[in-house]
Amino acid sequence: MSASSPVATPRAALDALVAGNRRFAAGTPAHPHQTADHRRLLEGGQAPYAVVLGCSDSRASVELLFDQGFGDVFVVRNAGHVMGRSGTAQASIEFAVAELGVKVVYVLGHQSCGAIAATVAHLVDGAPLPGAMNILVDLTRGHLDPEDPARDAVARHVAGTVRDLLTESPIVAEAVERGDVLIAGGWYGLEDGLVHPVEAALPA
Ligand SMILES: [Zn+2]
Repeated sequence: MSASSPVATPRAALDALVAGNRRFAAGTPAHPHQTADHRRLLEGGQAPYAVVLGCSDSRASVELLFDQGFGDVFVVRNAGHVMGRSGTAQASIEFAVAELGVKVVYVLGHQSCGAIAATVAHLVDGAPLPGAMNILVDLTRGHLDPEDPARDAVARHVAGTVRDLLTESPIVAEAVERGDVLIAGGWYGLEDGLVHPVEAALPA
């Protein structure tokens, strides 16, 4: 990591993500850490300061929307940013926390999420999704308002995923408890380019 990295503490790590997103949303990205020199600096190893669990959506590219570069962010993505049944998302996040020493865990949803929309549609009409896609419904439905699944669906699913992570991963929960890591969440707006914090998923 470069000597100028502003990420000495968990709070600074969260602030660095927020600052990068503001640069991006304002149309003034710095494109940090994307040079050949920086690539070579990382040849011997990585020390990312954040792990982000985001959606695979092609419009929600994590490094771009947080204006980060090589070596900054460890990224886990799947449709609908779910913890997953196989445990691979959890294992990847735990690797980032326990082995790489990231200082913030961020769950990132986004406006117009097709995976969440499919879950809402399923809850309304009851029709099963083809193939393995019902897993996405099963891992999302419990986070939504049972009376009105569409209401604040993305924010609710972000908050629910944060809760799932803390419940299912003692490694993450204990790192948060010790103060070594902050966990937070938000959703990315396609209209304004900003990541909007989800209050229920914010650190105390
Ligand atoms: Zn999505």
